[in-house]
Amino acid sequence: METERQPAVYFIGAGPGALDLLTLRAERLLRRADLILYADSLVNPEITTLAKPGAKVIGTASLALDEIVGLMVEAVGAGRLVARVHSGDPSLYGAIREQMVALRAAGVTYAVVPGVSSLFGAAAALGVELTCPEVSQTVIISRVAGRTPVPEREDLPALATHGTTLVLFLSVAQIDEVVSQLREGGYAADTPAAVVYRATWPDQQIVQAELSALPTAVRASGITHQALILVGDALQAGPGSVPQPASRLYDPSFGHGWRAPRPGRRA
Ligand code: SAH
Repeated sequence: METERQPAVYFIGAGPGALDLLTLRAERLLRRADLILYADSLVNPEITTLAKPGAKVIGTASLALDEIVGLMVEAVGAGRLVARVHSGDPSLYGAIREQMVALRAAGVTYAVVPGVSSLFGAAAALGVELTCPEVSQTVIISRVAGRTPVPEREDLPALATHGTTLVLFLSVAQIDEVVSQLREGGYAADTPAAVVYRATWPDQQIVQAELSALPTAVRASGITHQALILVGDALQAGPGSVPQPASRLYDPSFGHGWRAPRPGRRA
């Protein structure tokens, strides 16, 4: 990131969908921006209501990279502030790297404003902690190959051998393949699994099933895109399930930098 001059372009994470999951920083910049370019396939169009009068607002779903960069460079050349809005957090499957490379080549300054990833929107919808003590303390974030290839060492069966909480973006259309590869890698047939469609949007849908039953359940729901697949024993810790071990952080007999241990008390 170039920091000497004020950024002229802000890559902004819009969050998973619900407008009030925008950060305050994102809101402030959207209100100031002269040009708002937003990924209209997944970003809530209500963000455009924040645009100031006279601001130009363009959906980018149908534009190619060079067209998007051209619009940004032209606006910055005219002294305008640009908000480039991506769904969730821009650092996950956001394709911001190539835009940054092009901006840097054009001498345009930029900065990134983080957002709430759909991954966290989905975890909230499920009411689960992805890092459940003594169940899994690791979250693997991945996807299956589509038009974008995935490095061979990250093949799903290889990732599955760790048995962690696993979240897959951009993969629900290949649910059969996903489940058979996860089984091949070692997840038990009855591992808790879920698909969350359009987390935090009014039409959000949740499909929960044991891993081996997930493809049938997903097909029955009709979900084919805009969804995340979540798998792992931590998902079992949702409401109504058998309680999992509690985190040591709040155990009264366990002290840390902000609290002395209270011997004799148990969680
Ligand atoms: N940067 C985004 C991901 C962009 S890739 C983020 O952090 O969320 C697009 C993929 O993200 C979709 O195919 C889907 O897998 C997932 N996705 C985005 N928004 C979603 C939502 N509200 N609910 C479920 N999945 C979502």
